[in-house]
Amino acid sequence: MSESLSQKYERILSMCEVGKRKGAFTQIACPNTGNHKHGDKEKSASLGLHSNGISFKCFAGCQTDDFLKSLGLTFKDLFPDNEETPSNIYTYHNQDGTYHHDKVKYKLPNGKKTFKQRTINEDGSIDYKATVGVPFRYPQLIEAIKQDKVIIFAEGEKDAMTAKILGYESTTMGGASDWKDEYKNFFKGANLVLIPDKDDPGLKLTSSMIDSLKTVTKSLKTMILPLGKDLTEWVEAGNFDLKSLIDKTAIELITLEGVPEPVVKVIVGGYELYWIGLNLKVIIDHIENDDSVEIAVYQNGRPIHISGYKLLSISHKDGLVRSLERLNNKLNWRVIVNQITVQCLSRIRAGEDVVLLTSEFGKNKPEYLVNPLFVQNNANIIYADRGSAKSLFVTMIGLILTMGAGGDIFGLGVEKPWTILFLDWENDQYTTGWQKACLARGLDMEDTDFHYLHCSSPLFKCLHHVQSKINEVSADVVIIDSLAVATGGNLNDSEPALNFYNALRQLPVTPIIIAHTAKDKENKHRTVYGNAFYENLARSIWEVSKFQQLGSSELTLSLYQRKSPPFSGNQMPKGLKFKFDGDRIYVNPCSPMDDERQGN
Ligand SMILES: [Zn+2]
Repeated sequence: MSESLSQKYERILSMCEVGKRKGAFTQIACPNTGNHKHGDKEKSASLGLHSNGISFKCFAGCQTDDFLKSLGLTFKDLFPDNEETPSNIYTYHNQDGTYHHDKVKYKLPNGKKTFKQRTINEDGSIDYKATVGVPFRYPQLIEAIKQDKVIIFAEGEKDAMTAKILGYESTTMGGASDWKDEYKNFFKGANLVLIPDKDDPGLKLTSSMIDSLKTVTKSLKTMILPLGKDLTEWVEAGNFDLKSLIDKTAIELITLEGVPEPVVKVIVGGYELYWIGLNLKVIIDHIENDDSVEIAVYQNGRPIHISGYKLLSISHKDGLVRSLERLNNKLNWRVIVNQITVQCLSRIRAGEDVVLLTSEFGKNKPEYLVNPLFVQNNANIIYADRGSAKSLFVTMIGLILTMGAGGDIFGLGVEKPWTILFLDWENDQYTTGWQKACLARGLDMEDTDFHYLHCSSPLFKCLHHVQSKINEVSADVVIIDSLAVATGGNLNDSEPALNFYNALRQLPVTPIIIAHTAKDKENKHRTVYGNAFYENLARSIWEVSKFQQLGSSELTLSLYQRKSPPFSGNQMPKGLKFKFDGDRIYVNPCSPMDDERQGN
């Protein structure tokens, strides 16, 4: 039975706090509480029912995707079953937050994307037509200019949303070909960083944009991403520290001589230099010992000059400047040739960021915290289904870490004692303390102390408190129980994941993180529950499965390595048997239980 569009509409409304109905629209309280810090009592959002779909508008500038995610819905819930579903809808707003138009994105079967612009009218009808441009996230742009914030100008809405996730105000005027000179007026007084896609249209976009924007912005910078085709790909490759990338690589485009600094890329046998705003590229190669080189100058992608050139010769420099001036008298070639000489010589002399791998490196082997489970100074994750005695397992890990068993305890190596801070969002100190005491008695070990902190808000919110507690007790290791609550927000979103790891990186400790299992229904493949960043940014990951016969006082935990640290091979599964006997818990190594996880 397929669900009709009006049935979908009523189902979504039943999930919302509903206000007045007027024609095709129903007023609702926006459920995207991330954007409305104190909820939305005014019901400033609306849902519209149209002949070919359901629309969402919010005056606080929320996007349809934000709305769907906060209710656990997808774009399929907004469109008829038999029709092509957009992969995203980007809403443009007027300066005051009122609706302007939508850009609807479709993925084609060949993997390419296409856009349709639409305007939803007051009477519920929809016009499909190109509209006069306003910047994406216009109200936020105005506010960011007022507050003198750095604003990322991305090439397209997807990257603008990625920049927002990374903590920046962001905007775009759409793709490379959409720029018009009159748009510059939206950016008066702004501090802009342009991040173009790394393809030729991207470089062209910035060159025409820079000419317009130079005249109105307060500061104007640009950069070429070190990897990935665009900002989103750079983030998907596991990077998220955009601030330090901007600090290190962004170049100022408003300069006294009208020539920005070039971006320099190392290529085989030489260098490529780009002047983004000038649409200029120079390749220097065939570098000889006497500093003679071959130089090729490209403008708008076409070679305009190729010759031999001696970097240190003044007569060569004058000759090169004169030839280039004859080809194009609009550019300040003397400054440009000077930049080429200085950039190349300083790199040739410096010997290019080469790191000599001396025998010193052999002395600093990356170390295990618990061999072979967890590594030092990197995030470690264990994940398991609910009710898999994960907390018992990490309490035991905490105990043997504080003991510093000095070698091997049931197949786990801990070289020296560590100071543990247990960050607990799930249990209470009594449960954890009791389990620790029972384990110590069962292991016939001293019940060594570890520090315990009960947490209630997400890690990034209580970071300063946790930081001061780590300093106070001089903790080396934090145990985080568990990922879901320590992260806060929707686990499937990248924003909370990045916030979480950002917070974690600021703590001078080794984290052991407990997480839940996500199970793919079709192939039974198990992963860490939540966004892929959680796995990408961890160094060592183990899956734990519990086996316990009904009514038995024994349980077996089997450990399967799911991601091994780069300095070690893959480990065989391990087993641990826990036996409960009054106020004692005995632990012994055993064979892992054979189950379907073995071949996973
Ligand atoms: Zn909203």
